[in-house]
Amino acid sequence: MQTIEQRPLYVKVHPADNVAIVVNEGGLPEGTRFECGLKLLEPVPEAHKVALVDIRRGESVVRYGVNIGHAEQDIARGGWVHEGILTLPEAPHLDDLPIGGADRKKLTPLEGFTFEGFLNDDGSVGTKNILGISTTVQCVAATVDYAVKRIKAELLPKYPNVDDVIAITHVYGCGVAINAPGSEIPIRTLRNLSLNPNLGGAPLVVSLGCEKLQPAQMLPISSLPILSSVPYIVRLQDEEHQSFGDMVAAIMEMAEKRLAQLNGRTRTTRPASDLVVGVQCGGSDAFSGVTANPAVGHAADLLVRAGATVMFSEVTEVRDAIHLLTARAETEQVGKDLIREMAWYDAYLQRGSADRSANPTPGNKRGGLANIVEKAMGSIAKAGTSPISGVFGPGERVTTKGLIFAATPASDFVCGTLQLAASMNMHVFTTGRGTPYGLAMAPVIKVASRTSLAERWADLIDVDAGTIATGKQTIEEVGETIFRMILDVASGRKQTCADHWGLHNEFALFNPAPIT
Ligand code: CA
Repeated sequence: MQTIEQRPLYVKVHPADNVAIVVNEGGLPEGTRFECGLKLLEPVPEAHKVALVDIRRGESVVRYGVNIGHAEQDIARGGWVHEGILTLPEAPHLDDLPIGGADRKKLTPLEGFTFEGFLNDDGSVGTKNILGISTTVQCVAATVDYAVKRIKAELLPKYPNVDDVIAITHVYGCGVAINAPGSEIPIRTLRNLSLNPNLGGAPLVVSLGCEKLQPAQMLPISSLPILSSVPYIVRLQDEEHQSFGDMVAAIMEMAEKRLAQLNGRTRTTRPASDLVVGVQCGGSDAFSGVTANPAVGHAADLLVRAGATVMFSEVTEVRDAIHLLTARAETEQVGKDLIREMAWYDAYLQRGSADRSANPTPGNKRGGLANIVEKAMGSIAKAGTSPISGVFGPGERVTTKGLIFAATPASDFVCGTLQLAASMNMHVFTTGRGTPYGLAMAPVIKVASRTSLAERWADLIDVDAGTIATGKQTIEEVGETIFRMILDVASGRKQTCADHWGLHNEFALFNPAPIT
């Protein structure tokens, strides 16, 4: 008898679908016959679509119950439905969308779930206890990196309660149109990165002196929830620094005072509602939308019911499903805010003579995702089913509970950076093609859409959601595993693969304004 893995399998998502995706590793050869009698007319790669019925030229190809494109030629039952024979449908128009109707009060509260976190003075809670050193400009980055290397080697071992030291370096700060429309995005991103809950709510800043982005603009005193007794800025051009050695000594002295403060903190039991979980996907395939993303979506639903904040992002990957999201807005304002962010991004892409067809990537396509409509339908599954209670612009600090849309580009590192600025203290990341992605500022739980990836990259992937495609586990079971893992990792009881190896991608600012 054939095992589950050897039996030809496909996954159909919605009863109305006229295509399904092939589950078997390595794909299936021509002539393969499924239990239902369907026979493949040609080889179909793993995760790619097979026609379940005859589809005539011009007819809709339906997956997730929606039209993901029109057939450019007749496709016979059992044929391979790929990108090359589909035309991209138009994105939903923004002026006539269903808004509102969702009510968070109808959700059954989930009580009694806690984690061990670091409470900050501003009420936010860290899942790590990190010393962050912010920078106003790229000119100081190498100096700060040098100082951080020495801080880690010489000072950090004396303060065992502190998890890490991070330099928040970037390419912004000078040679930029600092007042141009759009410049508020990188500036508030840098401000809010400094205020991420995992940095103890108390930033330190290294400035050059002559740069355009002055510390007072990046981090006005009014935005600082810190003890004013501790100096928090070192300016390298100040007269008192007679040498590079002086500059490094000044940074180290400032850092040591903060290390001593951070070291005095301990984890305390906190309700799950103190979590701010950002969900994201990268290197997606056609399985992402039926395994990893819905499982993360179930975890997101549990978190929202527990009172936590869950944010989803990636404007270009929700744009084609926006009509489904506005219908989930808790208020009319939230619906309007969603449309505002979509319209802003439409204009931004148009300015660059690009459109949403710039996404997906070649890897996405090899993974069976024909176009952005199919990708979007799978992508929004990460956001679960809860009502949407708030919308924030790129780099804004999220201040409300529930399911939040934090607008960002879909680019993994740009999205991750913006979600950190939005005050994310835990990150869940799904992948089908595979990426070793990680962040220094918040733990990243990586969820694979396929068992073959989870097995091949067993030391990089934290959760295998491929078991959903083979029927070994349900979406709910994997979702609950992710939910519990979030609590364990947030408590410091469990380490993610990315943290184990120290895989930490760089900060990548989103700057839609001109460089001068
Ligand atoms: Ca992404």
